[in-house]
Amino acid sequence: MSDAIVIGGGVGGLAAAIVLAERGASVTVCEASPFFGGLASALEAGGTTFDGGPYILLDPVGLAWAFEALGLDLDALELRRVHDVYEVEREGGPALRIGSDVEQTARGLDEAYRGQGDAYRRFIEHSTRIHAALTPLQTAPRPSPWSLLRSGAIRHAPFLLRSLGTVFANAGFRPEVADALGIFTHVAGQPLAGAPSPIALVPAMISGPGCFVPRLGVATIPDRVRARAEELSVSLRASARVTRILCDARGVTGVELASGEQLASKVVVSDASGVATLLELAPAPNSVRKRVAALPLQSPGVAAYLLASERPSGPYLRFRLDAADRDAPCRLLVRPGTLDDPPTALHARQVRVVAPLAQATAERLEASQQDALLDQILAEPWTRARVGAFEEAARLTPARWGQRHTLHRNSMNPVMTAQLMRRGRLPHIIDTPRGLFLVGSSTHPGQWVSFCLISGVLGAREVLQSWGR
Ligand SMILES: Cc1cc2nc3c(=O)[nH]c(=O)nc-3n(C[C@H](O)[C@H](O)[C@H](O)COP(=O)(O)OP(=O)(O)OC[C@H]3O[C@@H](n4cnc5c(N)ncnc54)[C@H](O)[C@@H]3O)c2cc1C
Repeated sequence: MSDAIVIGGGVGGLAAAIVLAERGASVTVCEASPFFGGLASALEAGGTTFDGGPYILLDPVGLAWAFEALGLDLDALELRRVHDVYEVEREGGPALRIGSDVEQTARGLDEAYRGQGDAYRRFIEHSTRIHAALTPLQTAPRPSPWSLLRSGAIRHAPFLLRSLGTVFANAGFRPEVADALGIFTHVAGQPLAGAPSPIALVPAMISGPGCFVPRLGVATIPDRVRARAEELSVSLRASARVTRILCDARGVTGVELASGEQLASKVVVSDASGVATLLELAPAPNSVRKRVAALPLQSPGVAAYLLASERPSGPYLRFRLDAADRDAPCRLLVRPGTLDDPPTALHARQVRVVAPLAQATAERLEASQQDALLDQILAEPWTRARVGAFEEAARLTPARWGQRHTLHRNSMNPVMTAQLMRRGRLPHIIDTPRGLFLVGSSTHPGQWVSFCLISGVLGAREVLQSWGR
């Protein structure tokens, strides 16, 4: 019998396991896949290693907090700051470039649309203050109006209650500039009007604390976290899919694996999708099931992992937005070869083509239609012109992501909408059944690696508190 069983060895689950093991608990992590790291893991293809999911770390402050809490050395990641971060193109309009240098970015915006540079300077100054005030809340165990009050961040409550679209409109940005500044919401496949306001802090994060890529890729983060869990003698069981959380009248008693094996524990921490955990694995009450079933899900979209014949230059990320439809999914090229000092020539030629998909669209398309859509995206003139000649090393579509990472309805955790932020995220502690805890992106649905690590730490601390430790 383990003191705790963790379902899922993504970064959130591994982080939780570390915190518990550090306090002397015996912990078993059951991971459905043959590998650990979940969505943040690497993809071996074409004789090289690609980052499968995450490609940029926008929150070095949260990452540093989590690494310290886990007893990990952040310097070992050899983080490289990205200065020329991204460019957004849209047919018929000027390309807009966003980087770490506020003046340079403002001048570029002014050249494209007179007066927008000043709006940008003012916006960065204002949002830098908001970011500084809100940052401590990110690591608060149970954010609430009280924690806002105690931290003095309550004066930013109106900002938090607005949608991203309203924040940008109030700052005086034209729609084209607002779309470029809120580009990470396009990647999440959400229109600005429904997206939460904190995405507006991304430009201030890019110019302030900065955004980074580890020298050997983002997938080195789950590698480090996993190695730390091993060092603490966490029992790591790969290819061990949990099919059921076992309970009696008093609460959780263990889990059952797909093999039929049962493992006993009075505490189960789930890093699997929070929605799947409550709908499929645990006997949650109907009121809870109803609430989670209504949460909006986010598709991981389609992605092709290419080896281009030429090393790319220019900004690290290139986006294209649809000229006619502001809410149409964007296209994105991720180009590690534009960063200094890529580890190998093959890394230098890597280009990932990404296209988000609305969850409803992804569910409507058969697996073969998702492949056909990706083929079509790879054949688009913009992709051809920007990538040049290439070989395709691998591809992931919602069906393939779902199979690789045991995703509920081939989706990631709930997408963070403005509405979800107002109502509150899923809690770490589930009252019924007792002994069940959630960690990972379901409790911090911003879909960032740092958030999931933080969630693992905070969720595990809730477990320790329930043990009186
Ligand atoms: C395309 C894409 C791009 C992204 N880009 C970025 C980015 O640039 N920057 C950033 O910070 N973040 C990014 N993210 C988000 C980030 O990768 C995730 O939010 C994070 O890795 C999620 O970690 P997690 O531990 O919460 O969950 P997961 O990684 O989903 O881990 C959950 C684990 O649980 C396992 N599991 C599920 N069900 C079961 C079961 N029944 N039994 C046993 N195991 C189970 C799964 O196999 C998986 O390993 C991106 C994600 C994707 C998909």
